[in-house]
Amino acid sequence: MELESVDVLVVGGGPAGLSAALTLGRVRRRVLVASDGPPRNATSPAAHNVFTRDGTAPAELLRIGRDQLAPYDVHVREERVVDARRADDGRFAATFAGGDTVSVRGIVLATGVRDLLPDVPGLAQAWGTGVFHCPYCHGWEVAGRPLGVMGAGDHALHLVRLVRGLSDDVVWFTGGAEVDAGVAESLERSGIRIRPEPVASVQASDEGLRSVTLARGADGHEVVSRGGLFVVAPQELASDLGERLGCPVTESGRLEADPTGRTPVAGVFVAGDAAPGMQSIPFAMMGGSVAGAMLNHDLIVEDVPV
Ligand SMILES: Cc1cc2nc3c(=O)[nH]c(=O)nc-3n(C[C@H](O)[C@H](O)[C@H](O)COP(=O)(O)OP(=O)(O)OC[C@H]3O[C@@H](n4cnc5c(N)ncnc54)[C@H](O)[C@@H]3O)c2cc1C
Repeated sequence: MELESVDVLVVGGGPAGLSAALTLGRVRRRVLVASDGPPRNATSPAAHNVFTRDGTAPAELLRIGRDQLAPYDVHVREERVVDARRADDGRFAATFAGGDTVSVRGIVLATGVRDLLPDVPGLAQAWGTGVFHCPYCHGWEVAGRPLGVMGAGDHALHLVRLVRGLSDDVVWFTGGAEVDAGVAESLERSGIRIRPEPVASVQASDEGLRSVTLARGADGHEVVSRGGLFVVAPQELASDLGERLGCPVTESGRLEADPTGRTPVAGVFVAGDAAPGMQSIPFAMMGGSVAGAMLNHDLIVEDVPV
């Protein structure tokens, strides 16, 4: 694809970006998808809760997505976009890591987020196989086993109640964060135990999680056998392109946008995990599709004035 002839640049080749590209390609937009790095769920052997694709490996899901772009005027370039700005001619100028630039009429940012996992030995290695973020994605596989939830605050409280639906044996590892006494009593009545000691390490094997080790005073440790751990971890945007383009960032660290992905910067849309809202593959697919359609709508309004 000639870089001069591109209508829309989609940054990010995950479920949100490929969905946006499909929608735009089907209405004959010339689309360049810039894809660099693995999708967020790359460490997971299978993606779940995805209609018609439940249990498909993340890489296979994206392979199918790319294959189905073949009939359209969509090109995927394996290179990071390092800068994007509004040019004097009103278009956007985007720069690839290797120095090439592309001028486009619109941009879909489908760049995702990065999880900032707690610095606990063994935890990152088990991310996606024994340590998870979402019961809808991985709950079924560990349901009925002794489970844990690690984290503090309202999100962790929500998660611990969700996880209780999967198992009769649930421990909430709060890391010492305060839990309202009434809430703690109610949780304990529902069979959820609260452990305030810091998690020192997690132990996992190819079969999944085995245990969580708690630090107890001077050199003391307690091993709590667990078959799955759900973790509340902060996250950050995986790219600064939104900020470079002037898109505001919300309090929860996403790019500000309306439900269609339209940001306050005309011509720039956001889709998937980087956008406000629930984070999952189906949501990313929907977000990409809606953002693609709304961006195309804006181009049509310019191209076919009435
Ligand atoms: C361990 C784990 C397991 C999960 N399992 C499930 C599951 O089973 N089911 C489910 O529905 N959801 C699951 N999720 C959530 C799911 O992975 C995300 O919601 C989904 O991947 C979001 O899609 P996205 O396209 O927005 O972002 P991503 O899939 O993260 O894709 C964004 C892509 O953009 C690339 N990128 C970023 N910046 C640039 C740039 N400047 N230039 C070029 N490329 C760039 C990134 O490297 C990445 O490849 C899981 C998440 C985790 C962490």
